[in-house]
Amino acid sequence: QTQGWQAKDHAHHLHPFTDPKALKQAGGRVITRADGVYIWDSQGNQILDGMAGLWCVNMGYGLRSIADVAAHQLLELPYYNSFFQCSHPPAIELAAEIAALAPPHMNKVFFTGSGSEANDTNLRLVRHYWDIQGKPEKKTIISRHNAYHGSTVAGASLGGMSGMHAQGDLPIPGIVHIAQPYWYGEGQGLSAEEFGIRCARELESKILELGEDKVAAFIAEPIQGAGGVIVPPDSYWPEIKKILAKYDILFILDEVITGFGRTGCYFAAEYYDLEPDLITIAKGMTSGYAPMGGVIVSDKVADALDKGGEFAHGYTYSGHPLSAAVALENLRLMKQQNIVAKVAEETAPYLQQRLRQVLAQHPLVGEVRGVGMVAALELVADKASHQRFAAELGVGTQCREHSIASGLVMRAVGDTMIIAPPLVITQDQIDELVTKAKQALDMTYADVQK
Ligand code: PLP
Repeated sequence: QTQGWQAKDHAHHLHPFTDPKALKQAGGRVITRADGVYIWDSQGNQILDGMAGLWCVNMGYGLRSIADVAAHQLLELPYYNSFFQCSHPPAIELAAEIAALAPPHMNKVFFTGSGSEANDTNLRLVRHYWDIQGKPEKKTIISRHNAYHGSTVAGASLGGMSGMHAQGDLPIPGIVHIAQPYWYGEGQGLSAEEFGIRCARELESKILELGEDKVAAFIAEPIQGAGGVIVPPDSYWPEIKKILAKYDILFILDEVITGFGRTGCYFAAEYYDLEPDLITIAKGMTSGYAPMGGVIVSDKVADALDKGGEFAHGYTYSGHPLSAAVALENLRLMKQQNIVAKVAEETAPYLQQRLRQVLAQHPLVGEVRGVGMVAALELVADKASHQRFAAELGVGTQCREHSIASGLVMRAVGDTMIIAPPLVITQDQIDELVTKAKQALDMTYADVQK
């Protein structure tokens, strides 16, 4: 059956972020079921999902109560919209629940179908905000190189992925990028502290260069995820905070990955003590059981919107009843299992400690970095100089394949291996993850020695 699926897949299914030729050569992996932190492929292999799908299955697979709630909602009210003064209980209850979890100054939610749509919403929202304030010339959004904010035209433009920009003549006008706080790769010669401040001050230079009266917002992930789990130096966010306090621009914090517990706080805004005007959410809000995203809106922005008349923006599936009901049940389970505190106090410190103890000395690993339940192993040719392997060698991809063969999903971003397991992973399963990651590194090291 696997071969039949593979043949149909190649013939008819265009995959996101996949080279069709490479897929055809490799055959491709068909995942057929999942439970807890494990997935199974069509050949019966059990694999520990060290990526929680795409950083989203925070509460793990196979949750019966989510399936029951979904079935009930589909029978009760499978669809209704929230346009034109309509609403429905799942969206109402979910918005209130998210407002209760969000930082205290944020009390409203605009729902979307995905994180990308949420960032499109942000782009329009910040410009609408400044129009309402009588400052329509404040349009430019400052983002960062190597950021990921989605795949729609606005999302990919807000993002700072040069490969994405090259395909499709992006970014669209009105979006500019400054440095990412990637100390291991780009901070040579400076202490992490100094480098963090230098990167943060690029924000101020850019605001002054463009003119404060032209800048609408700054958008950033608390920790850049798809860029390779770039954890900023400790000096970075406090310095950014100071700069944001000085200038009248909005701050969009993209918490699509970090939201809903991954740092050991419900939101990384709390972890890093930040006060965003808008927070982008998706992924963990439903643990991936249904597609959903949104923007959490601060009182400051919401008050302006109250005066601004109709915001001509929205999606057919904004606040979809099925997704909203699933999200509510997901959040109920998170609370019931006290999972965020467990991550903060037990499992995340254990994961971070084990990765460092077991893997930091590995000859391939230049740096182990991470916060909470997200981590990266950066593979290098030379640990002393941080020199990377030539891209053509595809060392990260080899390591990913060895990892899957060892029974663990790690994602490769270039030669950086990413680990972001479900938040419900146990200490024993973390031991299994670390053992399998080491096995994959050993196999990759043997390859590069040849
Ligand atoms: N923002 C961040 C930080 C993300 O990591 C992602 C997806 O990985 C997105 C936005 C886009 O979300 P979606 O894939 O749901 O459109």
